[in-house]
Amino acid sequence: MYEDSLSYAHELDHNDPLKEYRHQFHFPIGNDNKPQIYLCGNSLGLQPTSTAAEIDDVLKNWQKLGVEGHFHGDSPWMEYNDRLKPSLGRIVGGHSHEIAIANTLTVNLQLLMISFYRPDQKRYKIIIEKDAFPSDKYAVASHVRFHGYDPEDAVIEVNPKPDHHLLKLEDFEKAFKEHAGEIALVMVGGVNYFTGQRLPIKEITQLAHEHGSLVGIDLAHAVGNVPLHLHDDDVDFAVWCNYKYVNSGPGSIAAFFVHERHHNEDLPRLEGWWGNHKDNRFEMLDKFTPAPGAEAWVMSTPPTLAIAPLKASLSIFDTVGMDRLREKSRLLTGYLEYLINELENDAIQIISPEDPEERGCQLSIAVHNADKRLYDLLLKKNVVLDWREPNVLRVSPAPLYNSFSDVFQFKEVLKKCLIELRYA
Ligand SMILES: *Cc1c(COP(=O)(O)O)cnc(C)c1O
Repeated sequence: MYEDSLSYAHELDHNDPLKEYRHQFHFPIGNDNKPQIYLCGNSLGLQPTSTAAEIDDVLKNWQKLGVEGHFHGDSPWMEYNDRLKPSLGRIVGGHSHEIAIANTLTVNLQLLMISFYRPDQKRYKIIIEKDAFPSDKYAVASHVRFHGYDPEDAVIEVNPKPDHHLLKLEDFEKAFKEHAGEIALVMVGGVNYFTGQRLPIKEITQLAHEHGSLVGIDLAHAVGNVPLHLHDDDVDFAVWCNYKYVNSGPGSIAAFFVHERHHNEDLPRLEGWWGNHKDNRFEMLDKFTPAPGAEAWVMSTPPTLAIAPLKASLSIFDTVGMDRLREKSRLLTGYLEYLINELENDAIQIISPEDPEERGCQLSIAVHNADKRLYDLLLKKNVVLDWREPNVLRVSPAPLYNSFSDVFQFKEVLKKCLIELRYA
């Protein structure tokens, strides 16, 4: 279906309905004054060209209006957050009232576990996936210890079957059987950061609910990358950052989802004045009146300057739409896979799933016996991707701004580097 030539890559670019979006992003300039071949959107997405103006708007309103900026100007700060929720909702498949924008990912994970991890003597274990992101592991382990349990006993890591490196639903089934009646929470990634595997959220959630457990999903690598249906899939809660595929800048404001089923439950929760219903928030009452929906979990005044980049980014997602993005993504990552396989190099193994349904845009490529010199050399030749010890390149062509030519050029550079370092 594909061809291994630059002219073919150009042809794919020419026919790409999303090709113009590339120009809405700043590409970093690398060596020899050339734009980098940037395949690192899984770590930090590129800056939209509209971001600076969006931040500047907030600054200008602050200059001109002072405190009145909360209520006046074209984007009053009081409503700034709320206006972005429909866009985020379309990306994650949630209703606006199920979404809140606040804090950062790990902080939100800790805060939501207060509500959704309520262990008792019988049911106190948490399932996580093999190769879970370290921050999630630390969060889960520390939360378990906070409740007086031992992570060694209470944190169950689900592993693939021997000789497999990807997870299957039956691996989760096995864990539920082995720990029958003891699992309080399943906390897994929507897309695993290491392998790029997209986990079956709907099936895992159904399985967990059948066993009386709750489900939290970490969407750091899934949001803006793969189709999501949090509400319909019945996920209890989800957390994500917006600096990877959502292109909102380093350490940008994060967001979370709480299924509406839980909105009126009497859950334990850490509270602050911004989670109070906006109708009487400023009456400064002694008693807390929860805001309807996920907003009740927000504690502080939204940092509008920090949210401006998210606004800039989401307006791009609004015009593209996840369907078209996913369509291009499958083609683009498929092309990357094809080119890597065309190298016919036995030292290389793609450890991400072969089935496009089971992955997002990232391919994780293990290079037998390679070390970090490979990454360094790629960078010297203007290719930016992500290196994971011991020998894995994580390559993420982002369909919003990467081209088929980017992918082709990456393959050419990789080939050279492999020869130069004698991994070929
Ligand atoms: C990137 C990432 C994080 C980062 O957490 P922060 O709190 O934003 O630093 C956490 N979990 C996963 C799975 C990630 O991929």
